[in-house]
Amino acid sequence: MIQPDTYELYAIKYGTHDRTAARNFMNPPDPHDAPYPIDYYVWACVSPSRTVIVDTGFDKAGAEERGRTWFRCPVESLKLIGIDAAEVTDVVITHMHYDHGGNLDKFPKATFHIQDQEAAYMTGRYMRYPTLRHSYDIEDVCGLIRELYDDRVEFHDGDSDLFPGLTLHRVGGHTQGMQFVRAWTQRGWVVLASDSMHLYANWLDRNPYPTVLHIGDMMEGHRKVERLAETPDHVVPGHDPRVMDYYPAPSDDLAGIVARLDLAPQMD
Ligand SMILES: [Zn+2]
Repeated sequence: MIQPDTYELYAIKYGTHDRTAARNFMNPPDPHDAPYPIDYYVWACVSPSRTVIVDTGFDKAGAEERGRTWFRCPVESLKLIGIDAAEVTDVVITHMHYDHGGNLDKFPKATFHIQDQEAAYMTGRYMRYPTLRHSYDIEDVCGLIRELYDDRVEFHDGDSDLFPGLTLHRVGGHTQGMQFVRAWTQRGWVVLASDSMHLYANWLDRNPYPTVLHIGDMMEGHRKVERLAETPDHVVPGHDPRVMDYYPAPSDDLAGIVARLDLAPQMD
């Protein structure tokens, strides 16, 4: 058996959106109008032999268009942990929503890893409906097609071993071809759930996020995440601000900006 690489995992926060609880749940908890912001992240998986980036975020123009607060370029921010995007060879795109699949042209050497069903969904019949295409940016979609025609897209069908110690897992629900990433770390298997669950409470309260193609598949996806994570403390949701509170920063000056997900969380 091939020994898995051991990965360091980083979440980098690049944006936020002030909103109320009503926006984040199918059945909003009381009080509905209580503040309940969501944060925007990209993630980095770093082993002694390779660096894999998970998602690429949106740019300043995208933030302005949708009224999001943009703290920093998610790609430039990789430099905070010593990663030069120009040298990155592998980028996993969990799904192509605007807050996950922009900025592809800032990775000139990368292969982009995406699920077959996500590529089909974002270019297929359901995009006739504004409700479903609203979360995609046409320029990002065309950007991925450009990378495809430049031989820089790798397709995955379901679950696969990307590299030793790094696995990909398709779930439905949020989009048709959403995938999450599982990495082997010093504390066991950690799941970067991305938008298979936006917030801890979407998952733990079985109260899904309302941007959804199929509610049943989304809840099945929550179970799949649970099955593949070492413990519930090894699950990292895609947009929860508490991730920055629970996990230690790699250095004091990066507190609130970067979190080390391969270290144990302090949840109390
Ligand atoms: Zn998202």
